[in-house]
Amino acid sequence: MGCFTFEELLAAHGGDDLPQPIRHHVLDEACEVCARRLELVRRIVGLLPTLALEPVPARVRAAALAVPEQARRRLPLVLEAVLAAPGMVLALRSGASGTRRQLYRHGAWELDLALDEKGSLLGEVAGEDPAVPSGECTLYGERGLDHARLDPDACFRFEKVQPGPHVLVIESDEAVLVVRDLEIPA
Ligand SMILES: [Zn+2]
Repeated sequence: MGCFTFEELLAAHGGDDLPQPIRHHVLDEACEVCARRLELVRRIVGLLPTLALEPVPARVRAAALAVPEQARRRLPLVLEAVLAAPGMVLALRSGASGTRRQLYRHGAWELDLALDEKGSLLGEVAGEDPAVPSGECTLYGERGLDHARLDPDACFRFEKVQPGPHVLVIESDEAVLVVRDLEIPA
């Protein structure tokens, strides 16, 4: 019978008795190489409990789990349409593509939406902080989803949006803004 690898000996060491093939090889066949390997396995296994890490003190764990004072909040906010009217022309407050705008608002958060003539959805976010928010925008439609990022002016653009109902989610550092019922006109 051939020799056993170190891994095989280590794996076999878990039980009370060594498996018969190993015992036969080491004892009956008196393989010195495997006997030395087996002795090393026994020493390592015997040493392992002394290497166990001490449990983390409760106060250290509590501190690690605590939310930092300066952590930014990420509240999920549902934006409500301020000027909801079916079939209305959408335009940005600063936009040249129309005189009316579709405005969504929650507290100090505002979102302007506009559709351009190519069917792209443009958005502009105004937060409660004067600093420009950054974040990821996701547009969920009936046929899948699309991603866009807020640019340095807190604007975003989705190209060639399909008509129909959508849900728009904007995840900024400050909050998660949700427009639940965004109807893109045909
Ligand atoms: Zn051997």
